Amino acid sequence: MRLYQEDSYATRFQARVVRAWSDEQGHHVVLSETLFYPESGGQPADTGVLRGGFGEVRVLHVYEEAKAFGDVVHRLSAPIPEGVEVEGEIDWNRRFRHMQRHTAQHILSQALLRAGGYHTIAVSLDSPVSTVDLEEEVEEAKLQEAEALANFAVYADYPIEAFWVSEEELARYPLRRPPKVQGQVRLVRIGDFDLAACGGTHLRTSAQAGPIKVLKWERYKGGSRVYFMAGWEALEDYHAKHALLSRLALSFSTSPLELEKPVRRLQEEVYTLKGENLELKEALVEALLPRALEERVLLVPAPVLGDLAKRLLSWSEKTFLLLSPEGRFAALGPGRQEVLERFKALGAKGGGKEVVQGSLPKEKVAAALDPSLVS
Ligand SMILES: [Zn+2]
Repeated sequence: MRLYQEDSYATRFQARVVRAWSDEQGHHVVLSETLFYPESGGQPADTGVLRGGFGEVRVLHVYEEAKAFGDVVHRLSAPIPEGVEVEGEIDWNRRFRHMQRHTAQHILSQALLRAGGYHTIAVSLDSPVSTVDLEEEVEEAKLQEAEALANFAVYADYPIEAFWVSEEELARYPLRRPPKVQGQVRLVRIGDFDLAACGGTHLRTSAQAGPIKVLKWERYKGGSRVYFMAGWEALEDYHAKHALLSRLALSFSTSPLELEKPVRRLQEEVYTLKGENLELKEALVEALLPRALEERVLLVPAPVLGDLAKRLLSWSEKTFLLLSPEGRFAALGPGRQEVLERFKALGAKGGGKEVVQGSLPKEKVAAALDPSLVS
């Protein structure tokens, strides 16, 4: 029996081990009944523990042996014998978050249908950022409307109930989407807001799923994929983002919602400075070029070392050595490898083809400025 369908708020249960086996995947049991939700319908599995005369083992994963109504298999951290009685306990913190994601998805899917006529065809609730895949491409305004509608449904505090109907009775129920299973079908009703066939675990009222926040959307397989967060996880996300924005605002001496202005100003300044920097470097390279051609061993500022080396390469075939006061160096021409070897003996690191570049310990710079190196 799937106890989680009877009461999605129960966390402990008693059961007997009906089957037990071990294989290369691990240790497994099927129980006479279970509160553990098996991974399905986009909702992740429950985890938790089983206790008994054998001690305590962890339930690592739960899945259906065959799709829809197959046995519920529990993968365990250690084997337990067939026939024993166990007490099971699910990880409630994890389950409650899953129920928030899942119930919010029902609400959001209905809101998307109402706001834009958008049809949900797949969902993923594996992580705090959940997704709903829609058959249609969405419009931004309709998406905002759907988000508002979903949160109105949250604040309306609709009761949520699950009940079973036969296939024949189904026609009397206006379902959001046709059921995938046959025979007895489990329906989940959220007040008069939403009605859908579902075997999952749900909250008692819509209010517990809130807030529901749509994060973004993108085109996906001819339709769209909508990303959202719900419940505690949406609140945690808000907390993290608010804290980040507040820290940034403080560093710019402004308020979080005014941050764009100083950030944009900073971007513009960086852009201007980059342009100026480029001009200054070019001018400096031009100014240094005649002396470099004449002396061939020269102390130059590190930012122009590479550019000056390239310019020399196009001007002369002789050997040149450029050094910065911090120890960065560039050597080119026929004697460049020899320079590199000499510098390596002084503790330098570096390499390269047409221009060898590297750095030398700072205290060796004076000794390295040796004109005989290029003669
Ligand atoms: Zn459901």
